[in-house]
Amino acid sequence: MIIAIDGPAASGKGTIARRLAAHYRLAHLDTGLLYRATAASLLQADKGLGDVAAAVAAARGLGLVEFDEEQLRGAGMGEAASVVAAMPEVRAALIQAQRDFASRPRGAVLDGRDIGTVICPNADVKIFVTASPAARAQRRALELMRRGEKIDYASVLADIARRDARDAERADAPMRAAGDALTLDTTRLDIDASLARAIAIVESRVIT
Ligand code: C5P
Repeated sequence: MIIAIDGPAASGKGTIARRLAAHYRLAHLDTGLLYRATAASLLQADKGLGDVAAAVAAARGLGLVEFDEEQLRGAGMGEAASVVAAMPEVRAALIQAQRDFASRPRGAVLDGRDIGTVICPNADVKIFVTASPAARAQRRALELMRRGEKIDYASVLADIARRDARDAERADAPMRAAGDALTLDTTRLDIDASLARAIAIVESRVIT
């Protein structure tokens, strides 16, 4: 079974995907990490974020480099990731690895922005996880504070709005719900309630 989870930053999609994967004993790939690692690799090599050739080389070389996941998940790296993610050449360089991951015999859970639309258009279940920008900014601010980062709510909200716009308006594989995706709005749900809804969606779509 392939479960495709898409949605904007801090919607809860990553946690839902991880917990769905544990529930169904499936492998999980957080595809945002691929774009974050590409951006980190580029910056480490002292290249500009607009350098397409260097970004493609970084994306192709991901398997060869070790990354500190904590560092990748920092606030600045999400922004940098969305810049390289808008390059069609970078997306093309990362497609096959994601499809290979999804094609393991028991299936997998993948989360990102274009899983249901581009990476796994034939996924058994597609969920588009969303929440209001204010709720997402609150969650992200709390998460960053817990990690010891200095934040203020207004700039976290502005960052989220900017990233949403860039991800939704890019020409190649923009963030959007697939036509056959079900939407899960987590604005008023905690993680246990969100997971319960996600499991209910899976069960409604898959004959077990
Ligand atoms: O999900 P996460 O916040 O880690 O993603 C970081 C960035 O990577 C997103 O803002 C988006 O630009 C990009 N991304 C993407 N396609 C995916 C996953 C992430 O474009 N499948």
